[in-house]
Amino acid sequence: MTNDIVNKIKLNALENKIPIIKDEGISFIISYIKQNNVKNILEIGSAVGYSAIEMALVDTDIKVVTIEKDEERYKEALNNIKNISLEEQIDLIYADALDVDIPGKFDLIFIDAAKAQYKKFFIKYSSNLKKSGVIITDNLKFHGFVENPELTNNRNTRQLARKIREFVCWLKEQELYETTILDIGDGLAVSKRK
Ligand code: SAH
Ligand code: MG
Repeated sequence: MTNDIVNKIKLNALENKIPIIKDEGISFIISYIKQNNVKNILEIGSAVGYSAIEMALVDTDIKVVTIEKDEERYKEALNNIKNISLEEQIDLIYADALDVDIPGKFDLIFIDAAKAQYKKFFIKYSSNLKKSGVIITDNLKFHGFVENPELTNNRNTRQLARKIREFVCWLKEQELYETTILDIGDGLAVSKRK
């Protein structure tokens, strides 16, 4: 029953070209949540709520705060969360993540919003991370454009790819964090506090 609803949300998102996380990516995050007993999650970029829902479904005592700035997607996420009866576990916030302050500390922060702003999200939200926490960032491969910018002539796409490359370099330089780049899904960075 629940599985059917999740699957519907996923297929609907894919059909509408909503850039939801890849299957291998969400599988990795779900395993991480289980293995590390993650209970409090902050997500930047809800889209229609798919990944927030998958994470919340790992356990009934998991809480997810997720932020979305696009009104239409926010409304759809709200609807999806309600349909699957996860309102108690998922706190969906309609805002630009760079303009709000979220109280509390989290075991896991999942950055999955505007790629050009990754560094800003990381810096801003690192104060919301527990000492034992982890920041996972999605789309570091950006469909292959990061490694192979010649795949496109689109200036915007190339610029974004460069931004992501710079972000990865910057991440690796952060002394407070130990970052591993995983070739999973569209590329995940796993940054743990040292
Ligand atoms: N995590 C989702 C996919 C998110 S797609 C999933 O896997 O199911 C990225 C989303 O981030 C988009 O819906 C976009 O509107 C949102 N976004 C981009 N910049 C943002 C910002 N500054 N604050 C909040 N949301 C943002
Ligand atoms: Mg993503």
